[in-house]
Amino acid sequence: MMYSIEQRDEQIRGTSAAITYTLGFARAPQHLVAVHMHVERVSGPTLVAVMPSWSPGSYKIRDYAGYQGNVVAWLGTGAGRVPAKTSWRDKASLVIETDGASTVEIEYLIYAHERTVRTNHVNRNHAFLVPTAVCMYVEGRTDEIHHVNLTHDSAAWPSVSSALSPVEAPSPKGMLLGALNYDILADSPIEIGDHQVRTFDLAGAKHEVAVPTNHVLDVEWLTRQIQRIVKVEAEMFGGVPYDRYVFIIQIYPGAGGGLEHARSSVNAVEPSALLDKSKVVNLLSLLCHEYFHLWNIKRIRPVELGPFDYTREVYTPLLWLAEGLTSYYDDLLTYRCGFTTAKEYIETLSKDHIGKLQSVPGRLVMSTRDSSYLAWLKLYMASPDGSNRFPSYYLKGGVIILLLDVYIIDHSDGRYSLDDAMRAFWLRYQQNPAVGMTESECIALIEQSTNIQVRDRLMGWLSSTDELPYDEILGAVGLITDGTEKTKEAVKIGESLDFATVPMIPFLGWTLGENSGKIVVKAVEDGSPAAIAGIGIDDEILAIDGNRVATVGQVDHYCGASVGKGAILTAHCDGRLYSTTITPLSKPARRLVEIEKPTDRQKQMREAWLKRTL
Ligand SMILES: [Zn+2]
Repeated sequence: MMYSIEQRDEQIRGTSAAITYTLGFARAPQHLVAVHMHVERVSGPTLVAVMPSWSPGSYKIRDYAGYQGNVVAWLGTGAGRVPAKTSWRDKASLVIETDGASTVEIEYLIYAHERTVRTNHVNRNHAFLVPTAVCMYVEGRTDEIHHVNLTHDSAAWPSVSSALSPVEAPSPKGMLLGALNYDILADSPIEIGDHQVRTFDLAGAKHEVAVPTNHVLDVEWLTRQIQRIVKVEAEMFGGVPYDRYVFIIQIYPGAGGGLEHARSSVNAVEPSALLDKSKVVNLLSLLCHEYFHLWNIKRIRPVELGPFDYTREVYTPLLWLAEGLTSYYDDLLTYRCGFTTAKEYIETLSKDHIGKLQSVPGRLVMSTRDSSYLAWLKLYMASPDGSNRFPSYYLKGGVIILLLDVYIIDHSDGRYSLDDAMRAFWLRYQQNPAVGMTESECIALIEQSTNIQVRDRLMGWLSSTDELPYDEILGAVGLITDGTEKTKEAVKIGESLDFATVPMIPFLGWTLGENSGKIVVKAVEDGSPAAIAGIGIDDEILAIDGNRVATVGQVDHYCGASVGKGAILTAHCDGRLYSTTITPLSKPARRLVEIEKPTDRQKQMREAWLKRTL
């Protein structure tokens, strides 16, 4: 059967399934989910059930079988069932001897107490379930319809939010949901509880906004902003490819990140996200990002990313397309939605994209393509030294895509942009949804849809560790990078009196953290003043020029007074004290600034780049 992640609710209504998972929540307070897996139409001497080791979109082996316990298998069903003989083929694959039985049942517990967008989190208040971490698949039978029977107390937990489709109307005993195949099940997280839900119809489809939290926030306002996001992105692609889409927005202390799915997304933010303007913009940008993924990565996708092997790493150099491109578009779409001004958008590019990339020494030692290929051991398992060893394909990939977009706009005199390439990718998916794109095909589509030759340039940027030609490309839209230190406006007291001289903000090239009253080095940039002074990760900073320091602010204060001169630093490493001379520098910056007198053409190209559609 062809690989497909497309499902409409009407395709599931009234179906039957030979593979059904019944999930019990009686032990939710202990973070346990009881799984009863019922498999009919069994044939052959053995049945192999496998727990996935990772979740698509999150490139790390998580070994979900490690959270599984009390696994037993049965032949037959009901009172007459008998225990089956089982053995493990590997860490996640259970082999069941069927002995001619046509029905097999497997029961197990899942410990669900890790709160992220890609792991299960169950307690007395709610259940967030990631099917790759709950549901074993039956080898050879992933193309079949799968049902999930939720048996929660629907008086206590009245809301169920998931892209899985209802098989029948919910009853007081719970709810029966379904997926056309295991890939769709795996791609459809479930939130169950007493969370708030808002719904709206737009672009001919239903939308649900599910917000599980006990924090006070303006869900109506948030829903109105999500409507803008849907409008802007749907217009870009000429409509939406789903009948129903679910935004799950998790709000809890320490939350962050998101995970994309074909008909839903999970977005996690801190409770303060709706209280502060810059944090709200970050949340809206995250929502733009994960929603954009329903096109770019779930449907428009690298050939390696679907169908998936859930048992092992899947390698692709194309995460620059999947995540880099999406990272470029998230802030651009945030601007197009009207959540930021053009000036704020350029400041974001300056600070969070180009400025941030220029502070990553790893950009000079590993290419973006390699960083993508090795995501499993680099971005997703980054050591504290990671930023010296590789650039994130989100960050550098996004900056490369910025340059690509401006290059296309410039060389086509504003007639084409990357939006045209996105629409060509989208058409390509609709013609051949079962197979993803190769890198070569992707670049060919960019060239065909824009009439601009980009292959050599783009592959050069993606494959090399050279600095990117910011000024050469971005000059076309009236922007240039500036590496000089931003001079602070002189502070005055009263009408015109000068303020006292204060220490500068120093650059040491380290990241410091405060831990139980100690100042501990968390990271050291290669080649920086801290590295030259011989300071290492986990060293404890004790004094600067004989002045005892107890806070990071005090370290900056004394180092700021020694910029360009040098200070004696006293520190502690592995039980021994040491002293070293460190020479703080003034803070380097690589930021985007406006060209002073832009030409008419630069103004026109800027307009073509930053046009809004809403
Ligand atoms: Zn993403």
